[in-house]
Amino acid sequence: MGYLEGTCPKCGEKTREQCNAWGYGSPIRFCTRCKQEYLDQRFREVAIQGFDPKSTSPVYYIKAMILCLAVTLAAGGWMYYTLHFRQYWNTMTLALLIVGAIGTIGCIVLALWVGLGFAGKENARYLAESEKRLRDPLYVQKLQSYGYVIPAQYLAGMGTANDGTQEE
Ligand SMILES: [Zn+2]
Repeated sequence: MGYLEGTCPKCGEKTREQCNAWGYGSPIRFCTRCKQEYLDQRFREVAIQGFDPKSTSPVYYIKAMILCLAVTLAAGGWMYYTLHFRQYWNTMTLALLIVGAIGTIGCIVLALWVGLGFAGKENARYLAESEKRLRDPLYVQKLQSYGYVIPAQYLAGMGTANDGTQEE
């Protein structure tokens, strides 16, 4: 549903990675050019960090949609007024009209995606993937070295890396 664009901090290669609208996935990325790993905190490891509230409730997109719709109607109304009564229009108003309309449509799509439960299903799949990654002790250690606080349930399988205070 979207892309995250960036730059590899190791070699400077431009990166463009497919992800969903809320950046769910591993924050540990691998550069396709230099093959080195790096941290990209825009990605969200959902088993640790939880879901973005925007993906669990449509309220945010409904509010944003109302705002975009207001901009669209205001720009459209002004455009209509100037065209019909003053025989002119300006590009700024047209730009606002287009941006507002695209924003309104985008917000409606996302509000429906979340509100009708599609995002919830997708969230469950991302959570399962995230939990699978966290079953790898090396992966967990890597996240810890980057400063992530790992919930106890994912530390259980880590043997000596565990300080022994966790009990199942
Ligand atoms: Zn690189």
